[in-house]
Amino acid sequence: MSGGTIVYKTAEEIEYIRNSSLLVGKTLAEVAKNLKPGVTTSSLDAIAEKFIRDHGATPSFKGYHGFKHTLCISVNEEVVHGMPGARVIKEGDVVSVDCGAFMNGYHGDSAYTFPVGEVNEDTLQLLRVTKTSLLKGIEQAKVGNRIGDISATIQSYAEKNGYGVVRELVGHGIGKQLHEKPEVANYGKRGSGPQLKAGMTIAIEPMINRGTRSIIQLKDGWTIITGDRKPSAHFEHTIAITEAGPDILSTFSYIELAIEENSYITEKIETLA
Ligand code: MG
Ligand code: MG
Repeated sequence: MSGGTIVYKTAEEIEYIRNSSLLVGKTLAEVAKNLKPGVTTSSLDAIAEKFIRDHGATPSFKGYHGFKHTLCISVNEEVVHGMPGARVIKEGDVVSVDCGAFMNGYHGDSAYTFPVGEVNEDTLQLLRVTKTSLLKGIEQAKVGNRIGDISATIQSYAEKNGYGVVRELVGHGIGKQLHEKPEVANYGKRGSGPQLKAGMTIAIEPMINRGTRSIIQLKDGWTIITGDRKPSAHFEHTIAITEAGPDILSTFSYIELAIEENSYITEKIETLA
């Protein structure tokens, strides 16, 4: 996480962040079209990198602190920061794909978790609750609230459903830098933390575990897995705080269209009430 202070964006800068974030949504849709049992995670990464570069952008993650890939692909008990490679996707996997794109000087960042083929109902519910926790967090992202209102809302919703909320990894401000201030934790106290003001752009990204919240970092230096090896889910949007309320700059709409057309992904992750 970079140091410094919160950088507030102009309306024009927010549109640049929106364009980068929309490209990320379209890139994740390309991944969704190609996700099926038998594909390697490195082949998905190659598709995403080509798509981003074909649109005049660069992958935000490639080269970030030495990360060598366009996507983080985290399967089953992997929470985040999974590295694409020779791993073959199998029927029943849940696959979290995180992507960033940099265009016209600004980053966009978004993530989605896909169930491949038949996935057990308990794990599907984890995905639904995680996606819903993101949307509930976004609802709190309004002028006059504080970061802690987002954090506490995500935490209480996920814990009410019996899940573990990862604490060591957090959301973040975003703009010219992939990771800016403030940190956006997925746990915390209402009314705490920095005040939300118009012009803030943040990535909100709950990482929710079916079991314990504890995590382990693998010896590769990147991959984070759950302490009990139960599955984990991750959904992320880049948003802007505006006087009119939260403005979601990234989108899942392209991804969800791609899911509808992919017979290997039969379950659309519905948002819960
Ligand atoms: Mg991300
Ligand atoms: Mg992020």
